[in-house]
Amino acid sequence: MGLLTIGAFARASRLSPKALRLYDELGLLPPARVDPYSGYRRYDPAQLERARLVAWLRRLGMPLADIRAVCELAPEAAAREVRAYWARVEADTAARRDLAAFLVDHLSGKDTTMSSDHPTLGIRYAVLSDTGSVRESNDDAGYAGPRLLAVADGFGGGRHAGEAAIEALKPLDAGVPGGELLSALEEAAHRARESVSALAASDPTLRDVGTTLTAMVWSGSRLGLVHIGDSRAYLLRDGELFQITHDHTVVQSLIDEGRITPEEAASHPQRALLLRAMGGGSAFEPDFALRDARAEDRYLLCSDGLTGVVPTGEIRRVLASEDDPGRAVRELVALANRAGGPDNVTCVVAHVAEQGALTSA
Ligand code: MG
Repeated sequence: MGLLTIGAFARASRLSPKALRLYDELGLLPPARVDPYSGYRRYDPAQLERARLVAWLRRLGMPLADIRAVCELAPEAAAREVRAYWARVEADTAARRDLAAFLVDHLSGKDTTMSSDHPTLGIRYAVLSDTGSVRESNDDAGYAGPRLLAVADGFGGGRHAGEAAIEALKPLDAGVPGGELLSALEEAAHRARESVSALAASDPTLRDVGTTLTAMVWSGSRLGLVHIGDSRAYLLRDGELFQITHDHTVVQSLIDEGRITPEEAASHPQRALLLRAMGGGSAFEPDFALRDARAEDRYLLCSDGLTGVVPTGEIRRVLASEDDPGRAVRELVALANRAGGPDNVTCVVAHVAEQGALTSA
C-alpha cells in the first residue's frame, strides 16, 4: 500500500487531522513524507499503530515528553514505563486524597474543639536511643513528652541535626488547641528546618547535614503527624499493626512503581538513599496528617535502625505484649542489637488511655 493522505490516515487511525498536525509539530508522529512544494503530509500505513498509541497515552494524561520516550521503546520496556507512570499518578492522587481528608478533619476540628463528646485521652510514653553495635556515635535523637513524640535520624556528619529539629518542636509539648494542630505543626516543621539550615551554615564541615523527622502532637483525642524521611510511625489497634507513614526513599518509590519487590528492596544497594529529608540538599516536603486517637491504641515511632533489621512481626509482638512503654522500648532496642545493631536505633512508644485511667494507674 502506498502513502496515505492526512485525511485517509485520519480516518484509518480515528484521529482528527488537527490532532495529527499537532502530533507532527510536537515531534510525536512526523509524517513519512512532506511534499516540499505543497506542504501536504503523507503517512505510511505502518505508522497507524504508533498513532493509536500516542492517542491512548494522551488520554491517560501522560506528558508529551514521556509519550515521546515511550514510543521509542520496545513493547516490553514501554509497558514498564506505562506501569511506572501510572504508579506515580496513583501515588500523587493518594497524597492529594490524604491532604483533602486532612483539610476536612482540620476544618471539622475547628467546630468540635470545644465539644466534650470525646473523652480526653492521654498517653503513657517512653523513649530510648542507642548507638548500636557498629557505629561510634549516635546521630539519632528521640523525645517523648505528654503531648509530643518525636524521632529524628541525623546524617551528613550531623550529630546535632536531629536534636536541633526536635528542639524546635518542643514548644508543641506545652499543648496546642485542636483547631490549630495543622498550622502549629507546619510552623514547627519550618522552625525545625531553619534550625537544621542554621547548623549547616555554621560550619563548612556540616554543609550537608540533615535529618529525618517523624513526630506526633496530641490535642484531646486527636493527633497531628508530621513526617519526612525514612523514620516510621506505627499504630497497633485491635491487635493489628499499621505503618502510618510512607518512607521517602528511592527504594520505596521503586516498590511503588512496581520496579522492585519489597524483598529486593531489603538488599538494594541504595536502600538508605532518601528522596526527601530536612536539610542535606533534599526537597523539604513533609507529609502532614490528622488522626483520631482511641483509648487502647499503641504508637511506635522509630528510626530505620529498628526497621532495617527487626521483622515487622517481632515489632508487633513486642508492642502488643508489653504493657509498660519503658520495657517495650528496651526490648525493641535489644532486638535491633541482637540482630547486629548496624545502625543507631531510636524507639518511642506511647500507650493511649483515658485521662482518669492514666492518673489512677
Ligand atoms: Mg538510621
